Amino acid sequence: MFTESALFQRDALSQPLPDLMDEVDEGEVETLIILDGNPVLTAPVDLRLSERLGRVAHCVYVGMYENETAARSHGFVPLTHELETWGDARAFDGTRSLIQPLIQPLHGGHTATEMAAVLSGDRLPDAHRLLSEHYGILGDGFEQALKEGLFRGSASPPIEVKVNFGMVESLVTSARKDPSVLEFDIRLHNTVYDGRFTNNAWLLELPDPITKLTWENAALLSIRTAARLQLERGAIVELEAAGQVLRAPVVIVPGQADEVVGLSVGFGRSGAEALAHGRGYNAYLFRTTTQPWFGSVKLKKTGSLEPLGITQEHTVMLGHPIALSTTLSEYRRPPRLAERMESSLPSLMPQLPRQGEQWAMSIDLSLCTGCSACVVACQAENNVPVVGKQNVIEGREMHWLRIDTYYSGDPELPEVMH
Ligand code: SF4
Repeated sequence: MFTESALFQRDALSQPLPDLMDEVDEGEVETLIILDGNPVLTAPVDLRLSERLGRVAHCVYVGMYENETAARSHGFVPLTHELETWGDARAFDGTRSLIQPLIQPLHGGHTATEMAAVLSGDRLPDAHRLLSEHYGILGDGFEQALKEGLFRGSASPPIEVKVNFGMVESLVTSARKDPSVLEFDIRLHNTVYDGRFTNNAWLLELPDPITKLTWENAALLSIRTAARLQLERGAIVELEAAGQVLRAPVVIVPGQADEVVGLSVGFGRSGAEALAHGRGYNAYLFRTTTQPWFGSVKLKKTGSLEPLGITQEHTVMLGHPIALSTTLSEYRRPPRLAERMESSLPSLMPQLPRQGEQWAMSIDLSLCTGCSACVVACQAENNVPVVGKQNVIEGREMHWLRIDTYYSGDPELPEVMH
């Protein structure tokens, strides 16, 4: 089922960023207030945002972190975290719900709505009052939603969508013919997203669900493309696109499209955040207004190799098979599959008699997507330390939970198991 995007509203008041920057160039913007986000890092590179912001007399950034945008601004107002204040949100199907604060703001921050209210003349804005007034005016039952956690019936209506096969065909037929030119594909990173979480050591050390790479990003290549280019894991390549050059190590991934270099954003940061600073490779360099996600890239080998903190092959299974996978009929055939594949382990402890009720936690691995949320939740709950890239390379990561990713079948179109 498809609905209108919960993130972008077609009729929302907005001005395209290139138009705003043209006004900056013409000296029409004296004061610019940036509410959240990190546009100096994430805006298309051809907008030269960092340089052009220098033409604004007063630039104030309202944000949570001392990031690249904070560094280019004249003033910084701390923004509250979602857990520190009142707010509202939409689920992916459009259902509206309310956010309630769990703690007082730690750094005396303000919400984006409070800042907007100040700008429209409200001398003492308060996030709770603004929110209840807003829903009161709309007659949407603020108190009722507070009790129930959501606004009933606020989901967006389903809409019909059609695939534009003509466009897909024209893209495929116009694809590059020159074998020295590949396509790049920019994606959000699985743990640090667009870079907003790159200063979080837990998320840096959390193995990527697909590559199992920690502490950085890489240029992802398919098995066939890596073989054609004679590249191995960790080989440093020089990528050139949009007039920019990026050096990054290669990671080979089953299932990656041939002749496509996969690059995650969120790394190669240059703000004041200590852990994020200079870590990994800045794929935003290749994003332009006309090619924000895909484009052509030239790849050159450099002959250098970089050790990578990939956890997939770490630790041993003491003779146990690493992952059991079989058909349902084979699973049902007695004796039990696990018994047939079990190996006996030596133990220092005497075997305890199995009496009465015994409790266990079981996870249905056929449903596991490998998202790794349980790994980082366990790390937070049990205060497990991070060890850093070099110690991960040496196999010393301390996660209590470990999610491996196994591939079977055709390497170009594999089945994946976590
Ligand atoms: S067990 Fe659940 S939380 Fe953990 S990786 Fe699998 S899907 Fe994610």
